[in-house]
Amino acid sequence: MHNVDASGGQGVSCMLKVYEAALVADAEQVRDLLERRGIDAYVFGEHTYSVLGVNPLAWPQVWVAEDRDFEPAKALVNDYEQARRDLAASAAAGEQWRCAACGETNEATFDVCWSCGEPRDV
Ligand SMILES: [Zn+2]
Repeated sequence: MHNVDASGGQGVSCMLKVYEAALVADAEQVRDLLERRGIDAYVFGEHTYSVLGVNPLAWPQVWVAEDRDFEPAKALVNDYEQARRDLAASAAAGEQWRCAACGETNEATFDVCWSCGEPRDV
């Protein structure tokens, strides 16, 4: 790889953290995302996580090896997080609703009660 900093000398590693996930699966997903764009990325913390359970000091983390990959990786992570927020928002919007008139449960895609025809949100 690279990363002997000729001027500094403190550079054991120049790896940079770009993402911290609550779940290993999230971290792995981000790493896949980055690697598909040609960015070398690594997941750390997953072992500790799986052995000890939820440990706030050891969330799965995604790191990149190259300084020059940091900004593009961050941008990809932001896109990923935005997509997740959109997904969560649409999932929340996709909740079932209960008809005020007859009490029947309706799918989110229904604008009127399938049972009695009462409009939603009356
Ligand atoms: Zn109804």
